[in-house]
Amino acid sequence: MDKASLSVIIPMYNEAENVAPLVEGLKRALEGWHGFLEIIFVDDGSTDGTLEALKRAQECEPRIRIARFGTNQGQTAALAVGFRLARGSVVVTLDGDLQNDPAEIPRLVELLDGCDVVCGVRLRRQDSWWKRVSSRIANAFRNWATGDNIIDTGCTLKAYRREYLEGLELYRGMHRFLPTLLKMRGARVIQVPVSHRPRLHGRTKYGTWDRLWKGLADVWAVRWMKKNHIDTRATLELIESPAELRRTTS
Ligand code: UDP
Ligand code: MG
Repeated sequence: MDKASLSVIIPMYNEAENVAPLVEGLKRALEGWHGFLEIIFVDDGSTDGTLEALKRAQECEPRIRIARFGTNQGQTAALAVGFRLARGSVVVTLDGDLQNDPAEIPRLVELLDGCDVVCGVRLRRQDSWWKRVSSRIANAFRNWATGDNIIDTGCTLKAYRREYLEGLELYRGMHRFLPTLLKMRGARVIQVPVSHRPRLHGRTKYGTWDRLWKGLADVWAVRWMKKNHIDTRATLELIESPAELRRTTS
């Protein structure tokens, strides 16, 4: 894997005020990056000037690419578009609201040396008490139902070897199950503590109840997928006739 080739993907929904400080933070964090680098912002149908702010940032930083949905499609769709556009061998995702620190990107990429996916775990999470509790319940239920051990699936700060994302079919809400889905594809997943910062500008896009119910209902889909998963890596023997072998090797 060429670790020097990096695509950073950031979903943005009404994050206008966060664009400039985020781009500054990314530039600082990746100053010493020698290889290929692209920063893919996916504007998920923002109505607050996010697109204009991104275009302004792009004028000074040509490595910024912008994809835009005309209407809000949700965080999974935004990430899925980023995955499709990514050209680096390594993909890092983070939130566009400055709650994740771009300074952690190089460390996460380094950790891919021994695995395929690195999931951040927000240690001292800077969200309301209620949000932390509901997220803990959701994570516990998800892990119980899918037989997994992902501590903080809601942490967008993650690093991936891109080959594991190729051809991945995602549905609305599935970003919460990415580590579980990628394990099904054979990915080695590790979890590492990352920092977390309070949201200073803009508002969270999720209410507690809608997220909790949707997240809990989706668990059954992933449970079903895991139970019925067809492992295409299973040992497979193909027995051809000698005539066919002669035909394909000549
Ligand atoms: N986001 C998005 N589309 C959505 C909802 C959220 O692109 O429909 C983005 C949002 O702009 C942010 C990230 O996903 O960059 C996480 O959203 P948010 O900060 O609201 O989630 P929270 O931190 O409250 O869990
Ligand atoms: Mg946030």
